[in-house]
Amino acid sequence: MFPVDFVQGPVSPGTVLHGAVVFDTGGKTDYRPGFLPVPAYVAADNAAKKVTRNSPAVKFGSSGSLNPSLHEQVMEDGDLLEFLPLAPMAGDEILASSDGQPLWILRGKGAASVHLVGALPLPVLEDEYLRDYFRPGCFIRLLPLIVFLRQLTRESDWHYSRHACFVMDDPSLYWPTYGYVDFRRLAEHTRAHGYFVSVAIIPLDTRWPNPRTLAIFRANAPRLSLLLHGNNHLYTELASPRSPEQIVRLFAQALRRFERLERCGGLEVCRVQEAPHGAFAKAQLEGLRRFDIEGVLATAELLVRHNPNVRWSSTLGLEAVDLLAEVGLPSIPRIMMKKDWKSRVLLAGILDQPIVLTGHHANAADGMEQMAEYAELVHGIGGVTWATPAGILRSNYKQLRQGRALHVQLCSRRIHLTIPDGVEELWIHRPWLDPGDGGEDLTVQCGLAPRRASQPAGNGVCGPFPVKQAENLVVACSLKNGVDFNAVPPPPRSLWPVVRKILVEARDRCSPIVGWKNKYV
Ligand SMILES: [Zn+2]
Repeated sequence: MFPVDFVQGPVSPGTVLHGAVVFDTGGKTDYRPGFLPVPAYVAADNAAKKVTRNSPAVKFGSSGSLNPSLHEQVMEDGDLLEFLPLAPMAGDEILASSDGQPLWILRGKGAASVHLVGALPLPVLEDEYLRDYFRPGCFIRLLPLIVFLRQLTRESDWHYSRHACFVMDDPSLYWPTYGYVDFRRLAEHTRAHGYFVSVAIIPLDTRWPNPRTLAIFRANAPRLSLLLHGNNHLYTELASPRSPEQIVRLFAQALRRFERLERCGGLEVCRVQEAPHGAFAKAQLEGLRRFDIEGVLATAELLVRHNPNVRWSSTLGLEAVDLLAEVGLPSIPRIMMKKDWKSRVLLAGILDQPIVLTGHHANAADGMEQMAEYAELVHGIGGVTWATPAGILRSNYKQLRQGRALHVQLCSRRIHLTIPDGVEELWIHRPWLDPGDGGEDLTVQCGLAPRRASQPAGNGVCGPFPVKQAENLVVACSLKNGVDFNAVPPPPRSLWPVVRKILVEARDRCSPIVGWKNKYV
């Protein structure tokens, strides 16, 4: 997550340190600013001095060291049962407190600063993921260390632009309304509150779209967009065991159905797949990876739950965008509209992640207040721009400036890049490739003209490419063993997906009449 090398214990001569992490199990908390010549994070604990918490509430202060979205916020952490109350010194900033007592303090400034915390981070066990300790209900042990490392590496770390989008699952385009959603009103609401919505369309639903509905989407692009939602929308459709051939046939049919929608409707659909009920099996992701698809929307906890025998990266769900190296696809973290969605949005903001909240038509049951609330929360985080899911993936790169050179680390296979002022050469990094791996071609294109590097393409790092400021480039990495979806035969016919679809459509369209309002899924 951070470009940091940890050195434990005595430091050998000549080692340059940029920061210090101290775990004080003796419970000493009176560290003075500058007690070390580098910024320090001190987590203190002592069984004899700890107090039991009466309330799970953690109240944040309004220090400039915290993201403005956290200022004066109260979030619940019920996992921390006891903590060491800190005694503030003159000039201290209280970053967080519990039961009215300081829990996290910032003492001093710059190189003399000390982040002092009254709780130790817990060790991550072999079968656990780091995200188990950074989620709603369990975050305060890790949050101060994340903020400290982010501040320490801000200048030298790769820079990532944050985006946000609301995703509405399941609506069909047979009529300009679906359940509680009126697409025309939704478009007006996105303009009034300054946000984007992408509707996750079931490919089975693409045969008879309503021309008026299509016109609304065309007129409001990219604020309103479409993405793929499974193929037939059966329960755990993309998490059920299938043979590689069945998987390829399923995705090929989904892409053919969407191509038909694009052709007839004059719309461009995001080549981003969101599984029905959020559930992907690794084998299905591997099948999807063989098509020209930009990425997936996935929830880390569902990836783990539906793939119990797969060990993902230990930072799964905490990266800006998980590059699922195991399957070679970028995955946008998806926040489900559950009761804790606000905490998840705030935690995603701290991690510089895209903030993609997924809901249903029933979230508009009370006049789209939840979407307005979401938009306001995202605007409060600052530095976040709205985009379609494809736009998020096309901006899915990290950049690092070194003089006249710009280094770009791809986290997607296709990105759009504008060259900043003063940059004359471009280096492309593909972290999923090993040095010497020549299996994937890289193209850097400005308009129709390809740009060549002086070092042959195919390595993990490729360049330099000559560039000029303000140029708009498309950087793309070709598929290895890609499949043409038009050349794949369809899966066997089945009536059940159509019957199930009719029942779900009837339930959703009747919801406003009978007053069903299940806003959390
Ligand atoms: Zn769905």
